[in-house]
Amino acid sequence: MEMYFCPLYSGSSGNVLFCQYGKTRLLVDAGKTGKCIADALQTIGVDPQTIDGILVTHEHSDHILGVGVMARKYHIPVYATRETWLAIGNKCGKIPADLMKETEAGKDFLLGDIGVAPFSIPHDAADPVGYRLWGGKMSISTATDLGHFSENVYRRIVGSDMVLLESNHDPDMLRANPHYNALLKKRILGDHGHLSNEACADALLKLIAGGTAHVILGHLSGENNTPTLARHVSEGAMEREGIRVGQDVQVEIALRDTVGQIYRIEK
Ligand SMILES: [Zn+2]
Ligand SMILES: [Zn+2]
Repeated sequence: MEMYFCPLYSGSSGNVLFCQYGKTRLLVDAGKTGKCIADALQTIGVDPQTIDGILVTHEHSDHILGVGVMARKYHIPVYATRETWLAIGNKCGKIPADLMKETEAGKDFLLGDIGVAPFSIPHDAADPVGYRLWGGKMSISTATDLGHFSENVYRRIVGSDMVLLESNHDPDMLRANPHYNALLKKRILGDHGHLSNEACADALLKLIAGGTAHVILGHLSGENNTPTLARHVSEGAMEREGIRVGQDVQVEIALRDTVGQIYRIEK
């Protein structure tokens, strides 16, 4: 059986990822308006009514903007850790109690046909997580919004067939950006901020050594990065290690404002 993955949107202007295995369809985050998410799902031929769950990574608005609307309108259960639920408060409006599901980092669970493994990530939110999603022997991991690639993240996602990893910014572009104040720059560059292109490339080398053959660069900054630069940094690092891009490993970019491709893995 195949596993499908589509980064509908990825970036600081909103994150919505789609995954399907067997009869189960999930979203990781719903950080665009409900209408925008429903339209994007229709674009890839998915009826929003058929989504079985929304897995929330953390309470920042680029990850939860449409959670309330999607839950209420399509009666979709929403999964988040207790601390994340507390931090969401009423930012998503009222979500019916029977749709609010509590999860815990490190506690794996089955949601329909998909095995869900939430893991802690280092980010300045209440209790942020990434997810490894299992379909049979296959797995896809998503890890964005992380200040550094921690040992825990590595352990939880190593061996995934496909990984969407944050390639947020170019540190020089960020430092030179006149629109960002010093505090914001410090936050992004910090240990609990966002992953730079270089840190992403470094992490990808470790993951590729662990067997990952398909990587997607995600959560790119609109002002402090470009898709070309992000790709250049990661592919350059791979080529220096003798990894053949396009043969040993596929490298894709999840764009900020264009509905992504549907990727299929099969084993
Ligand atoms: Zn984010
Ligand atoms: Zn965040």
